[in-house]
Amino acid sequence: MTSAVVPPHLPRVAVCGISLEASTFSPALTTAAMLAPRRGREVLDAWEFWRPGGALADRAQWLGIVQARNIAGGAIPADDYALLKAEILAGLVAAVAEAPLDGVVLDIHGAASVVGLDDMEGDLAVAVRDVVGPDCLISSGMDLHGNVSRTLAATLDLLTTYRTAPHVDWQETKERAARNLVDRLALPPGRRRPAKAWVPVPILLPGEMTSTRQEPARSLYARVPEIEARDGVLDAGIWIGYPWADEPRNGAVVMVTGDDADLVVSEATALATELWERREEFGFVAPTGSLDEVLAAALASPVAPYFVSDSGDNPTAGGAGDVTWTLTQLLASEELAASGRRAIYASVPDAAGALAAAEAGVGTDVRLTVGARVDARPAPPVEVAGTVVAVVPTEDNLEVVVRTPAVDVVVTRRRRPYHLERDFTRLGLDPRNADIVVVKIGYLEPELFAMAADWMLALTPGGVDQDLGRLGHQRVRRPMFPLDDVGGVDPLADAVLFPGDTGLPAEG
Ligand SMILES: [Zn+2]
Repeated sequence: MTSAVVPPHLPRVAVCGISLEASTFSPALTTAAMLAPRRGREVLDAWEFWRPGGALADRAQWLGIVQARNIAGGAIPADDYALLKAEILAGLVAAVAEAPLDGVVLDIHGAASVVGLDDMEGDLAVAVRDVVGPDCLISSGMDLHGNVSRTLAATLDLLTTYRTAPHVDWQETKERAARNLVDRLALPPGRRRPAKAWVPVPILLPGEMTSTRQEPARSLYARVPEIEARDGVLDAGIWIGYPWADEPRNGAVVMVTGDDADLVVSEATALATELWERREEFGFVAPTGSLDEVLAAALASPVAPYFVSDSGDNPTAGGAGDVTWTLTQLLASEELAASGRRAIYASVPDAAGALAAAEAGVGTDVRLTVGARVDARPAPPVEVAGTVVAVVPTEDNLEVVVRTPAVDVVVTRRRRPYHLERDFTRLGLDPRNADIVVVKIGYLEPELFAMAADWMLALTPGGVDQDLGRLGHQRVRRPMFPLDDVGGVDPLADAVLFPGDTGLPAEG
């Protein structure tokens, strides 16, 4: 029991949060159960750096409270959010009753939506602050597709975000948020809070136009570690924001934090100005077209595998995942049938369909009607007739493959992403030797990107439609690029300095 002895000088830091990316343009909802809250020690064990022997394990007395998380989906119903929030706050109240908290790691994505509430993260941060008190430091490591409202910027003491999209640095970002917190808690009280320069930039773009694999995001994000390395700067970040929610906070934000207030302001305004001046350079990560155009290109391609992003219903961006629009057209395509080529389609979630195919068993011919249970706006449920060639049950899902004359269709009990080669090979599918691979995804994740001989992004309908003009935003602030004419707009007009412990008066 020697490990139970906690040295008295270690700071007490609670870990909690709700992490979700949620489209308000999708009829899907994300319930509290779908957010699968972890509690107590489980919260810490989710991350290498907090596990016993991990890099930060001994830097604080870490207290796992409640952490709810889902990849992405629709908004959280108000009652479900109230339930999760109450549990987080009750856990913090209990922790504070034992001894004051020195810090909180508030683990959020930044683009969760709650039905009837704007700015879930700002609401939660303010509620957490009310419990833990003004002296406690709160730190968040966010997704760069998250949003930073003025309320959130004012309430959190330390903010950082991913610097890559696709997010290959997600773990190091979460670790940096925790490390920055314990580093600041090692300073004397009265010197712990850095100044924060917050610059909201009126740009609203999908992630598929802002990947750090290509310009201008590549060089803009390359500036972040350069700024962070300057004396007097603690952290810098570009939150490109989330375009598939219609809330006043949605859009890009640049923040720089540090002990030199003048420097954080000058660096943040310079980076925000550069982002603004380069806004016209943002373009899609791959050639785009209507599904017809993309299919024609795939069938004419001399190389394989030809990847097609079925982007409008990408479940990892907030799509319902069960839109059948693309699959319906693939199965009906006379050009595909006549070509002699074969396609893989991943995927369509349909619990009843997956169970029926599994029950029928491998080798059996089935006729299923699947999809469009959640989002039937673009197309109704689709009939998939073929032979069951794979049934793969997992802990929390069931995946089957139905082989139709030209398409191997993946049907799942629950919505899930297909980002890795093994996501396919586990099902007996060989994407490397397929002619065409259609995936509900936006930009290709690294393994698929490396595998693709060619790739197009189909501008298909759904809750995360890449053609933002089709969605009809009503509540984001205006004017907003690229929805409006932004001639004469000053991108620095709403910038604010929160001075922290640097002693300067607040601006704005
Ligand atoms: Zn993201």
